[in-house]
Amino acid sequence: MLVANRGEIAVRVIRACRTAGLESVAVYSDADREARHVALADAAVGIGPAPAEDSYLSIPKLLEAAKTSGCDAVHPGYGFLSENADFARAVEAAGLVWIGPPADAMEAMGSKISARKRMMAAGVPVVPGALIAGSKEDEDEEKISLNGEEARARAAVRRAAPRPPATSGTFEEVPSSVLSLGFPVVVKASAGGGGKGMRIVTSPSDLSEAINSCRREALAAFGNSTVYVEKYLPNPRHIEVQILGDTHGNVVALGERECSLQRRHQKVVEECPSPAVTPELRARLCKAAVEAARAVGYVSAGTVEFLLEPSGAFWFLEMNTRLQVEHPVTEEAFSVDLVALQLSIAAGSRLPELPAAPAFHAIEARVYAEDPDAGFLPQAGRLLVWVEPSGPGVRVDSGVISGQAVDVHYDPMLAKIVATGRTREEARSRLVVALRETVALGVATNLSWLGRLLESDPVVRGETHTGLLETLRLPAPARPSDEVFAAAASVLSRPASAVPGSTKSSWSGPFDTPFRMGGGA
Ligand code: ADP
Repeated sequence: MLVANRGEIAVRVIRACRTAGLESVAVYSDADREARHVALADAAVGIGPAPAEDSYLSIPKLLEAAKTSGCDAVHPGYGFLSENADFARAVEAAGLVWIGPPADAMEAMGSKISARKRMMAAGVPVVPGALIAGSKEDEDEEKISLNGEEARARAAVRRAAPRPPATSGTFEEVPSSVLSLGFPVVVKASAGGGGKGMRIVTSPSDLSEAINSCRREALAAFGNSTVYVEKYLPNPRHIEVQILGDTHGNVVALGERECSLQRRHQKVVEECPSPAVTPELRARLCKAAVEAARAVGYVSAGTVEFLLEPSGAFWFLEMNTRLQVEHPVTEEAFSVDLVALQLSIAAGSRLPELPAAPAFHAIEARVYAEDPDAGFLPQAGRLLVWVEPSGPGVRVDSGVISGQAVDVHYDPMLAKIVATGRTREEARSRLVVALRETVALGVATNLSWLGRLLESDPVVRGETHTGLLETLRLPAPARPSDEVFAAAASVLSRPASAVPGSTKSSWSGPFDTPFRMGGGA
């Protein structure tokens, strides 16, 4: 199987191949020659220069790599081409098995506007929104997404709303369908993802400028300038449902993930189950997610995202037609292997009997090469020392090894640290310890920040929402752990030639010279 990705997800998929008895072929750009996924795979094929457009995003190069290495199947991981229907079609046209959903389902969910329409037609509640052209479709959208009482309340707001002043830009006035939502609203790119191409607008007079700048950003980032407007819900929770479909028409949901801890609309900590979801709410969320997946003939693993309001009302946000970064928390809480299930679905097997409810609680923290003290600026450089934590209930999905370069061309996520326990508190405290015991030297990381976040009151209590990190103040970083000092001392005491990256040395780890630990900095 060709693993058309890099980093921790490539490592994760290669491991699943091993378990399934499949041979794996890694691909690598010039910047990734010495990367962990390359060393781990049974074979590896170079696919060109570091920029992703010239390597990991190049369909011809990936197909060529699959051909020359004799692969039968392609797993896209997440990111890169994983949600690209053209890639899925090209893989199948080349006679290879695509480990993912049908291209048509990817396309139906790929545009947020088209996904919203499909969901409304399937009776799934959708975040109230409006197209901005003032077309007939807007009206339909609004009617379907609001229940009677809400529609009446919004109509009252619309009547009371002052006529907005004309502004420069391409919009002379704010469409009534947007006004009826009430402010704030969020302007979104239909093709958007990764938190990009979103503008929160608090007043009608700022709308046209937001629409125009969102269009420019969407065109540059996604090659598509279509934007639309949604009601911006005040501090909801982000709750998503893992679904699996097989080629025999079976679709099941594997509970929810709580992903409300976000920075700039990007998840940083995720857990399963959500502390806010009761069995009754879980049943309703899972039912809506299964309906969403069935509506597009979904096969393989996918995620249906919702925003949950304190009232218990939830609204469809979007569907991700791939494996999700945070899939390990579902795996740990439900004791399943989602990549193995993707493989057996692709081989035509029926879904096995799966647990109806999570038996454990799992929490994941995303470790990034970024500097929390410098506005979370992504960091590049050489990761001199990387030591992973271990212990009961601790899982690390990582794509790095000591000495590896962290390249500016790619996502700065180094690893995901996942802790599992019988209770949420057991999982949380295990994760705090695991983060403290992780050693990353050479580039700044968010490890200490994550530890402090997981110790903060709202997170301890499970009282999170998507706006929390904008206002939460964390205490100053504590002194680094003894493991960090020991690793640093070990590196500093060695001749420069033995430091990884400077030569191909026989250097193997940070603890091969004994050091007395403790005693302060
Ligand atoms: P992307 O595809 O870029 O990830 P999403 O539509 O999935 O964008 O939204 C990402 C995050 O942005 C959500 O988890 C939530 O925190 C916030 N968000 C998006 N839409 C809304 C909304 N209508 N109201 C409140 N928050 C929203």
